[in-house]
Amino acid sequence: MSDYIVEPKSRKELRCLANALRKHLGLENERWIPIVELLDVFAEIFDDFNYEIVQDNALPKGVHAETDIRSGNIFIKESVYERACDGKGRDRMTIAHEIAHYFMLCFCGFKLQRAFNAKEVPPYMDPEWQAKCFAGEFMAAYHLTEGMSPAEIARFCGISRDAAVYQFKHREQKSENTFGNKKCLTNWLRQFAKHLSSDASILLSGINIMPHPKNYFKRLSK
Ligand SMILES: [Zn+2]
Repeated sequence: MSDYIVEPKSRKELRCLANALRKHLGLENERWIPIVELLDVFAEIFDDFNYEIVQDNALPKGVHAETDIRSGNIFIKESVYERACDGKGRDRMTIAHEIAHYFMLCFCGFKLQRAFNAKEVPPYMDPEWQAKCFAGEFMAAYHLTEGMSPAEIARFCGISRDAAVYQFKHREQKSENTFGNKKCLTNWLRQFAKHLSSDASILLSGINIMPHPKNYFKRLSK
């Protein structure tokens, strides 16, 4: 259980946010998210995002990677990074999990506070649950995994079998509208705007204020 609580978010909301990010990155129809490359894309798009590959002994045993939400730095164990580059599902998911922490807490600015009575924190207010949920929805998109078995989800999306089973079991909470949900995009934009400025008037300038990462993936794959 985490020592912190975060503003409540449902799976449905996080699915919508994950899809909005996919869409923004031009990855809405990609089953296999290039998560390792995405680290470099994030470093280009977001001013305060940074990642570092560290020696395995730099992080405690059992910790595969870590995000410092004050600085926006993600630290990834060398062995985890290398396995993720090789396409290993569990390690790809570790990176997605840390990116989820960064994206929701640093970029979107979900409000975080200390949990004084951690035992009573419901999952939807637990930052760890939210990161797990967002990472799962981002890596194994609902609209691209319809009718798939857990084994197929694992194979096509490049996630671990356990994560695929988890996604499979949590499919039933449908989004009202996977893409282009106006309300969702507005909320996302609002979060984004909050991050940029406390001036509410910035909300009016529309989705174009997002820095657009067109062609980043093409460039990176060269
Ligand atoms: Zn975490």
